[in-house]
Amino acid sequence: MTDTLTRPDTANFDPAAFIDPAQALEKATPLKILKWAADHYGSRLTFATGFGAEGCVLIDLIGRHQLPIDMFTLDTGLLFPETYDLWERLESRYGLKIRRVSPEQTVEEQAAEHGPELWAREPDLCCAKRKVSPLKGQLAGFDAWITAIRRDQTTARANALVVEPDAKFGLEKINPLVRWTKKDVWRHLLRHEVPYNPLHDQGYPSIGCLPCTSRVAAEEDDRAGRWRGASKTECGLHASPPTSTDTSSAPTAV
Ligand code: SF4
Repeated sequence: MTDTLTRPDTANFDPAAFIDPAQALEKATPLKILKWAADHYGSRLTFATGFGAEGCVLIDLIGRHQLPIDMFTLDTGLLFPETYDLWERLESRYGLKIRRVSPEQTVEEQAAEHGPELWAREPDLCCAKRKVSPLKGQLAGFDAWITAIRRDQTTARANALVVEPDAKFGLEKINPLVRWTKKDVWRHLLRHEVPYNPLHDQGYPSIGCLPCTSRVAAEEDDRAGRWRGASKTECGLHASPPTSTDTSSAPTAV
């Protein structure tokens, strides 16, 4: 760990010695970024995973290298059976615990208040109640969170930095895989025989809740199966951040 990646204390602040972690880590490997984050934030760091292919890469790195990083998943109660099974397989494979974070209401309680299948009528409200609100409550106890987003997934993610402020949730956000492509992700999963969701092999490149995820055709965007037929493309967990850093020179790994 280098001192240049550590934020200076304000009493001895030397602007010349300060290097923005986002710039310093822009070309670092995901493992190096994870190690830096674990070192820098300690127990104030957490990783929110939805068990996507990218999330499995990060769980593999954290597990194999025994990084002391807290992990949790937002269990909406509406995940695919294959996702619940993957959750158990990952915990067993790496001998680690991925905490369950649940919404305030069960699916049944939500239906009693808002009517059945809120996701089909008001997906933004459903995501707010089952994903965004529980995430906000959870992140309040941390200074930084790790996500598995990649820049090339959506236009909203195109400017994501390796380390960036998350104004929406009031902490910092660490994105170790921003520079990776889909090919990088699958190369890693196959090379290290990482457990992944079998639905990926059945036409589901992006997997969320069961009612809001459908198969995609070969010519479609990977996230076309999320909230199909609605204008919605994000859960609301990853707002597009303001950025002054030019990422256009970020190299493609493969
Ligand atoms: S993805 Fe669908 S079911 Fe899941 S929280 Fe959002 S709207 Fe509700």
